[in-house]
This record gives sequence, C-alpha cells and structure tokens, in this order.
Amino acid sequence: VLDVRDLVKHFPVRQGALRRTVGLLKAVDGVSLELRRGETLGIVGESGCGKSTLAKLLTAHERPTSGRVTVLGRSLHDLRGGELRRARRHVQLIFQDPYTSLDPRMTVAATVREPYDVNPDLAPRGDRDRLVRELLEAVGLNPDHGGRYPHELSGGQRQRVGIARALALRPEVLVCDEPVSALDVSVQAQIVNLLEELRERFSLAYVFIAHDLSVVRHLADRVAVMYLGKVVETGSEAEVYESAAHPYTRALLSAAP
Ligand code: ATP
Ligand code: MG
Repeated sequence: VLDVRDLVKHFPVRQGALRRTVGLLKAVDGVSLELRRGETLGIVGESGCGKSTLAKLLTAHERPTSGRVTVLGRSLHDLRGGELRRARRHVQLIFQDPYTSLDPRMTVAATVREPYDVNPDLAPRGDRDRLVRELLEAVGLNPDHGGRYPHELSGGQRQRVGIARALALRPEVLVCDEPVSALDVSVQAQIVNLLEELRERFSLAYVFIAHDLSVVRHLADRVAVMYLGKVVETGSEAEVYESAAHPYTRALLSAAP
C-alpha cells in the first residue's frame, strides 16, 4: 500500500543572529521502504535520527527534497488538489505529542467530525453525528463527552481523539510517531493495546515509530533501524536480533531489556 523510494529531506542549518545558512542537515538521507496491506513495520532509532521527519514525509505533512512516496500505486508528488487529498487520506499520522496536535478551539466531536466536512464524499451529512459517536466509542472515549475541549482531557484521552480523527478518514495506513512516548507509563500500555485492537478491526497497516525496541518488538512484523537519517537494518525481529550488521543496532540491542 505504501512504497517509499530514495526519500531525502534536507534542512538548512542556520547560525548567528542573522541566521545565515551555513550548511545542510540531512534529516532523512535516502530512505526506501515498502509496506504491504495490513502489515506493521516498526521503525526504531535514537533521538534526532529523522523518525518524525520521515513520518511527516510519508503523510505529506512535509515535502521531500527528493525521492518519492507512492500510496496505493499513485505517487503523491504527481497529484494536485482533490486527487492529492484523496490519496493523502489513506495514510494518516498519529503525532508524537498529543498536547500540540489538537486544535485547542475545537471540541472533541468537532475534531473527529472535521474530516467529513473536508471530504464530503466520505459520509452523507445525516450519518456523520452517528459515525463520530461510533468512532469515539471505538477508541474508548465516552461519546457523550464530545463537547469537551482538548484542555479538559488527559494526554491519553487526547491521543485517543487524534486516533478517532484519523480513523474517520478510513485510512489504509496509520503512521504512529512515538504515539505513547509523551504519556504516563500506566497509559502507554492502554494506547498500545488500543492500537493493536484497531489494527484488526479496521484492517490497518502500521508504520510504528519508537526510539527503542521494547514497544515495537511484539507489534511489528518487520523492523527497520534508522541511524543518522538512513535505514541501516531491515528484517524480521529475529533477523535483526540474530544478525545485526550495523554497530548502532548492536548498541541498541544491548541496551534493550
Ligand atoms: P526524536 O526521537 O527526538 O523525536 P526524531 O528521530 O523524530 O527524534 P526528527 O524530529 O526527525 O528526529 O529530526 C531529525 C533532525 O532534523 C534533527 O536534527 C532535527 O533538529 C532536524 N529537524 C527536524 N525538523 C526540522 C525543521 N523543521 N527545520 C530544521 N531542522 C529540523
Ligand atoms: Mg520524533
């Protein structure tokens, strides 16, 4: 469902009071990946290795410097307008930080409903309130609390709202960018379990990003290890464990519990 070829994203490095550009930072440096229908690909790597940048490229929140992302056989970079919107729908991002990813001025119900207003062909107007309630229920939120605002919610509840909103678009793929790392340890397992349950129920494929292997290892069919913007290892969990080739992967494994 998702095919990524030679993806590159450079950011200018600025310095001094005038913020002059003094170089280029290769945040994502030639990444190729493939994700099949219903598959879960885990991506791990240390802070700053380019995971969130990759997540934003996959979901068209950022434009690549070069390379391409193909969704259901259609290259995102060749599409415009309504066609681009329809292709983007299929790959949704679950953000790393639930405290900044929701619009503070929108209620829970309005947040989950918004995708229907932007993509009117998703559901007839008369069905939308019911669908919003069903989605809130599916992610473990009380559908009667749709009138609440983000500041009235816990981090875990906010993350659930973000997931419900993504599901409204009936995506093929959820790109989960460290979806639990900003949450309390006791809530982390709840959200991981929820994502696992939703994967079956909504036939989703996942790109599941984490900074260590502990979360990813029991969720992922395959694992990719990133280091300094590059994928240095891919394979099944067992393959990565048995024959880690890159020194960084070996360091990662020896640090894993
Ligand atoms: P973490 O595990 O801490 O979330 P990450 O792997 O998600 O890290 P990224 O957020 O993708 O890392 O950042 C990769 C590199 O790109 C970092 O050096 C970061 O400073 C840089 N970077 C990210 N976004 C931008 C931006 N908009 N402008 C300039 N540099 C950026
Ligand atoms: Mg990140």
